[in-house]
Amino acid sequence: MEYEAVIGLEVHAQIHTHSKMFCSCPVKPDTGNLEPNTYVCPICLALPGTLPVTNRHAVEMGMLAGLALNCTINPVNVFSRKSYFYPDLPKGYQISQYDLPLAVNGYLEVEVEGERRKIGVHRAHLEEDTGKLYHMEDGSVMVDFNRAGVPLLEIVSEPDMHSVAEVQAYATALHEVLVYLGINSGDMEKGVMRFEANVSVRPQGQEELGTRTEIKNLNSFRALTRGVAYEIERQIEVVEAGGAILQQTMGWDESEERTYPQRSKEFAHDYRYFPEPDIPPLEIETAWIEQVQAQVPELPLAKKRRLIATYDIRPYDANLLVSTQAIANYFETAAEQAREASIAPQEVANWITGELFRLMNESGQEITELSVTPEKLIDLIKLREAGTVSVTAAKQVLSEIFETGEEPKEAVERLGLVQISDTDALASVVQKVVAENPTQVGQYLEGKTQVIGWFIGQVMKATRGKANPQTARELLQHELEQARSEA
Ligand code: ADP
Ligand code: MG
Ligand code: ZN
Repeated sequence: MEYEAVIGLEVHAQIHTHSKMFCSCPVKPDTGNLEPNTYVCPICLALPGTLPVTNRHAVEMGMLAGLALNCTINPVNVFSRKSYFYPDLPKGYQISQYDLPLAVNGYLEVEVEGERRKIGVHRAHLEEDTGKLYHMEDGSVMVDFNRAGVPLLEIVSEPDMHSVAEVQAYATALHEVLVYLGINSGDMEKGVMRFEANVSVRPQGQEELGTRTEIKNLNSFRALTRGVAYEIERQIEVVEAGGAILQQTMGWDESEERTYPQRSKEFAHDYRYFPEPDIPPLEIETAWIEQVQAQVPELPLAKKRRLIATYDIRPYDANLLVSTQAIANYFETAAEQAREASIAPQEVANWITGELFRLMNESGQEITELSVTPEKLIDLIKLREAGTVSVTAAKQVLSEIFETGEEPKEAVERLGLVQISDTDALASVVQKVVAENPTQVGQYLEGKTQVIGWFIGQVMKATRGKANPQTARELLQHELEQARSEA
């Protein structure tokens, strides 16, 4: 019997805002060394008599995500109380959305092994994050409420995925889109995006869905894919042995690399959802939706395809270039200018994803902060392509102008890096090098022709790297063959 896996994901993404969902406490990235319980106030500590106020920016970011995921925005949103007890939840309930969530019925287009697929997005709703528990070595447990009340967007997919590869593609595409839109910082290590995977299996061809389990606390792409793979295999084994899958909540044991049952699955009615009486229904005007819709940019996957089609660049580079809107814009500006100068856009892509990214990594600068504008980069590539400078010199110039903000031409002149391609100018250097090194000339004449590489090195040294290596090679060959005929 063949089995088909069915997977649906619930993704919790922190919304990148200045303040929390229902109070004005600042949201600080969880660097691991924030003083605990410092970014808290009576509202997020749930002191009696306080009133939550909805963060407009968080709603707008949620709408932006929803619209980018092709969802419909509900004109009336309701916040609800989801009641449960846990020490990191000071209210005894979480403010979430239940029957009237922010966004519904969308999809995300992904690429799986080169093929396009649409994964349905069932809903995306707003809620607040919980605090964090720390289990200390002495057995005590500490609670930190800095995270309590941080805005979260929960994005629930349809049970549309059938393999680990699809799960991986969907999760990474969602991460990419949210980061691209500036909704999420993308820092997985800081817990800003967490996954829960719902997994079931059914005999191939069967319509009806099998009983699912839900794997909690999958906090990295690795844990997500391993957890799902493990659970699919486990369920198939149980079913094949004649057993039944229990609807359960599972944990993921990172060190043992296996899932384990945590509790029998809770149902919505266990949470006693009811509308939050302290927050009036949120009415979203059409004009606001239209205004946010207008902000939805071309998404990374669409952009990647267009860059490949328009500029004929390698998919590998296109992937890197669409990692942020600013990088993509930088590339496009440069690629347009490259075309006018008859430079292949692939050459521009090479410079950006190679040397420029390296310099940016080293300095920690963002592409928008660079003194090397697309114009300057193109000027530099022109100097290189005209043979004015060597590749090595061009790289040196780039790191110079990265620091100084000069025009490439100025830096080339200041550093004396103009490449010597002029045959007459190089010929005398070559003659001198050959004349001064009779031992190596002897080796060449005995048939060790690879010694020419050493001679090129000497010419480079004598010209402080400015010799055009191709011209140098030709002149050296000529000179050495001359020596042969004289010998
Ligand atoms: P909850 O987990 O809170 O009960 P939902 O009913 O919204 O929430 O479902 C959660 C996720 O489970 C969704 O992503 C959905 O696609 C997925 N899902 C539902 N049924 C199955 C199933 N039989 N197999 C796999 N995934 C499923
Ligand atoms: Mg769930
Ligand atoms: Zn607060």
